[in-house]
Formats: sequence, C-alpha cells, structure tokens
Amino acid sequence: MTLKRHEGFLLYIKITRYTVLAFLLTNHLTTRLITRFITRQTARSDGDKKMMIANLSIWEKESYYAPQDLVIVGAGLMGLWTALELKKHRPSLRITILERNTTPLGASTRNAGFACFGSPTELIHDADTLGPDAMLAVAEMRYKGIQKIRRHFTDEQIGFDACGGYECINRDYKNWALLPDKLHWLNSLLKEITGSKAIFQQIDHKLAAMGLQGFDALVENVTEAALHSGKLVQALTQKVQATGVNILYGIQVSGIEKQSASMQINTLQNQAFTAAHVLLCTNAFTSELAPEARIEPARGQVIVTSPIPGLPMKGTFHFDEGFYYWRNLGNRILLGGARNSAFEAEATTNLSGSDTVRLALEHFLTQHLHPSFQYTIEHHWSGVMGFTTDKRPYTALVREGVTAAIACNGMGVALTPVVAEQLSTGLLDYF
Ligand SMILES: Cc1cc2nc3c(=O)[nH]c(=O)nc-3n(C[C@H](O)[C@H](O)[C@H](O)COP(=O)(O)OP(=O)(O)OC[C@H]3O[C@@H](n4cnc5c(N)ncnc54)[C@H](O)[C@@H]3O)c2cc1C
Repeated sequence: MTLKRHEGFLLYIKITRYTVLAFLLTNHLTTRLITRFITRQTARSDGDKKMMIANLSIWEKESYYAPQDLVIVGAGLMGLWTALELKKHRPSLRITILERNTTPLGASTRNAGFACFGSPTELIHDADTLGPDAMLAVAEMRYKGIQKIRRHFTDEQIGFDACGGYECINRDYKNWALLPDKLHWLNSLLKEITGSKAIFQQIDHKLAAMGLQGFDALVENVTEAALHSGKLVQALTQKVQATGVNILYGIQVSGIEKQSASMQINTLQNQAFTAAHVLLCTNAFTSELAPEARIEPARGQVIVTSPIPGLPMKGTFHFDEGFYYWRNLGNRILLGGARNSAFEAEATTNLSGSDTVRLALEHFLTQHLHPSFQYTIEHHWSGVMGFTTDKRPYTALVREGVTAAIACNGMGVALTPVVAEQLSTGLLDYF
C-alpha cells in the first residue's frame, strides 16, 4: 500500500502527537513517583531525627548528653591541650569535646610535623614587621611548647626525632649582606630563651653533602626537631580521655544559642547539648560559628616522595621566610608550602588542594634536589591553617558564653600547649 503525500503527513502528525502525549504522561508519572519517594524519605529521616530527640534514654541523657560545664568544639591540638590543662587544674569539671569528623580534620593531623620555634629569616621578618619584642614573645612560646610536649610524651609515643633543623638562603635575600650580623643579633636575643649561646650557625659547606643545590647559604639550628603529627594527636587524645573528658566524633555544631542559665549547642545531627560555657577551637572554620572572630583561612599543601635510596639529607629545612619547608621522612622527602605562588586562591577552607601549588612544590624539588635522586610523588594532601594579622593566636570572649581559641598562624604544634595554659586560667573563672 502506498500513501499519498498529504496522508503521510497526517499520519506523521498523529504519531508525533501520540509520542508527545506518551512522553508527557510518562514524565508526569515519573515526577509523581520521584516526588512521592522523596517525600517518604524526608518524612522517614525527619522521623529518625525526631526519634533521636524524643527517645534519648535516661541513661544517655545522664551521661553523653548530660549538661556540661564546658563544651569544646573541635578536637584538634588546641581543643585537646585546653581540655587537658583545665582538667589538671580542676579535675571535677565536666567537659565534652564535639568534633565534626571521625578524626580531627583541619590542621593538626595534616601539618608537616616540625617541632620548631622559627627559622632565622622568618624571625627577622617578624622582628621587622611586628617588632623584636612581639617576635621574641612568640618564639619563646613555641620553644616552651615543644619542651612541654616532650614532658608529656616519650619520643616513641609521638615519633619525636631530635634531627636538627636548617634554613637555606640565597643571595637575593634582602638581608643577604647583613646575614652574619643578623644571625649574631638573633643569637644574642634567643640566648635568654634557649640557653644556647649560638643557636644559629652558618655552615654553607654542608649544602652539597646533603644533596641540595641552588642555595647559597645554610644555617643550622641543632635544637630543632620533627615529630609524627598523627601519633601526637592520637596520644594526646588518649591522655585527655583518661582524665574523664568525653569526646564525641561525627557531631557538627551548627549554632550556639544563649538560654536563660546556660548555652545551647545545636548540631547538624539534630541533638542539642547544654553547657555553662562554650570554647570554639575550630581554627580556620570559626567564621561559620562566630563571624566576629578575626581569622583568615590559609590552605597549606604537602607532597611526599617515594623512598630515595641513599638520601643524605636528615632534618627539617626552611626556605623563603618559611614559605617552603621540607624534612626527611626516613628516606623520603616531605615538602610543603608554596602558598605564596597563589595567595588569594589558597585563602580557603576547601581541603581539595590545587594543581598550581602542587606543581610549584614539584618544581621546587627538581630545582633543589641533586639530579641523581630518582623519585615519584606518592602522597599529597592539604590542611587549613588560621591566620591573624599580628601573628599572635586569637583567644577572646567572642560573645557572652562563647570563647574562641584559634589562629596559631601555622605554628600550632609548638604553640597550642602554651596557649592552652594561658587560656585555661581565664576560663576557670566561668565555673
Ligand atoms: C600544611 C600544614 C603544615 C603545618 N606545619 C606545621 C609545623 O610544621 N609546625 C607547627 O607548629 N605547626 C604547623 N602547622 C600548623 C598547625 O598544624 C596548626 O596551627 C594546629 O594544628 C592548629 O590546631 P587547632 O586545633 O587550632 O586547629 P585544627 O587542627 O584545624 O582543629 C580544628 C578542628 O575543629 C573541627 N571543627 C571545625 N568546625 C567544626 C564544627 N562546626 N563542629 C565540630 N567540629 C568542628 C575540625 O574538624 C577540626 O578537627 C601546619 C599546618 C598545615 C595546614
């Protein structure tokens, strides 16, 4: 059978119309089904949430969720050291730490693990910008912080390695001509703190033997050390828990409200806590809870090489006023920094890292490691630091019932033990 042209056209219209109708009908049914599914799921999860609130057992109410003297938000180094310090002074204090991740996730377990109090060019820069007294005050806190860590833990517990530290410097450094004088000046200032007459010694002749190239000077600091950041946080967590502090992981604080006689801490898990006072140890993430706290996030990225057979370099190393830092990890190299290659982009709390910085780090290795070293990059990660404009940690009452202890400016391994000590004296007045 053959169709005339106009009959064929009519048939085509009919088929198209039915196809469109069928499509609309299917679409409508699909939409209804999806909507019904979502509604059911939402109702179910709302029900779950309500169940969580409505059905806490009396045992739970009187233990995990019992009213506290202090709720600390954030189980990084700052939260942990502060809890330990408070318990030392007042063992009866009821303290709960709420941590949003399954393990702390910010800077404390993502850093480079340097136990240092400052490289010469970093200290000179700080003295120039903040004044010698402010520079010395922070250096002293860092020095004391490292000593305190060592009083609390054995070297094995935290992977402490008294490996010594170095700074590589180039002729284009603005104080190059004055370097020997500046080192002498720093040594005389730091003698009071470290007890050592000449903490920084220039030993340029050792550069080549360490497998380094492309640097003009090397300054040694024999007191510097490295540690294992994961082991430190884990050991400290266990110590804090042993004092009776309750640490709950996977609880994200979403807001804090003042009630008549206490603070209510709301969470994304829809379970509220109450406490007489709240301490935010949320570092770079603090603006989500307390925008009034002055803090700038600064992402730091790290790469680690494959093992390099015969690596002659041992110790912690700094370059460019602290913008590049590396250390040996057995016979691997861990290198971090290069934030100054993309300052604005790195002012973020996003932990995914960026190719710009990763490539800058890889380029740094090819420039400064002896070309005979063969390696690949096996690990990379990023963490987020909190910065203030005056390089001092920020500890302040941000509003009634809420204190913040944040922003160790990329020096928190060494600073948090001492900041916690100073902070706890004031906090005890609230209880
Ligand atoms: C790459 C890198 C290298 C570094 N190298 C060194 C170094 O070599 N030496 C040194 O001294 N310092 C170093 N630092 C800095 C040091 O790690 C930090 O100063 C220190 O860890 C800060 O500890 P913190 O507890 O204040 O913050 P964090 O460790 O960031 O802890 C904050 C915690 O709060 C939690 N949190 C945030 N918001 C919420 C919420 N709403 N509810 C519940 N929990 C929440 C986070 O999950 C996180 O665990 C480095 C940092 C980085 C990123």
